[in-house]
Amino acid sequence: MGKNRIMRIAAAVLAVATAGLICWQMGVFEFSGKPKICLDAGHGGSDVGAEYNGRYEKDDNLKLTLAVGEILEENGVKVIYTRTEDETVELEERAEFANKKKATYFVSIHRNSAAANVSGVEIWIENTATLYEERLAKDILDKIDAAGFGKNRGVKRGYQGDSSANYLVNSATEMPSCLVEMGFITTPADNKLFDEKLDEYAQAIAEGIMKNLEVEENSTEE
Ligand SMILES: [Zn+2]
Repeated sequence: MGKNRIMRIAAAVLAVATAGLICWQMGVFEFSGKPKICLDAGHGGSDVGAEYNGRYEKDDNLKLTLAVGEILEENGVKVIYTRTEDETVELEERAEFANKKKATYFVSIHRNSAAANVSGVEIWIENTATLYEERLAKDILDKIDAAGFGKNRGVKRGYQGDSSANYLVNSATEMPSCLVEMGFITTPADNKLFDEKLDEYAQAIAEGIMKNLEVEENSTEE
């Protein structure tokens, strides 16, 4: 083993150790500069998403996404959006946008659908997500759960029905990401909750995100 090779290995080990130390000290996923959240309202334009009795998923997604963004902005968090209107945006474009803008986190907002009368909230993450990445989804789901949305269906890895696949917005984004399925649009009880408690859910999602932006644990918190 040559001296150069040893030096390279030593440098790599040091780099990994330093990155790990930074993550550990911050208690959050490592990010540089000011945090920037990319919010992604699922579907839009010609892609209406799931549909139920003339109600389109794309509209619900946008409504909730804009409400979440408003709360984050009120708290001084920079927000970027893949869409703020009813327009068609390809999945690849959404991920590329977040990558190019170097977003800290990417949060996609959707509504679920099913043939049966099922209910509740679930959040999808990439099947290879680290525990740090999983924490973002867990924190968001905990906050939604506390606000009350019927069944907590958990944080799930991969793709509905295929754990070896991923939602493109999760796999193609370079930063920690998750896809929130905010209840079933095909279930009237979930739609009622969605409409009545929209502001509370927006607050919950924003708080879940902000929890992962804290540089240090709040020492006054019990
Ligand atoms: Zn969707």
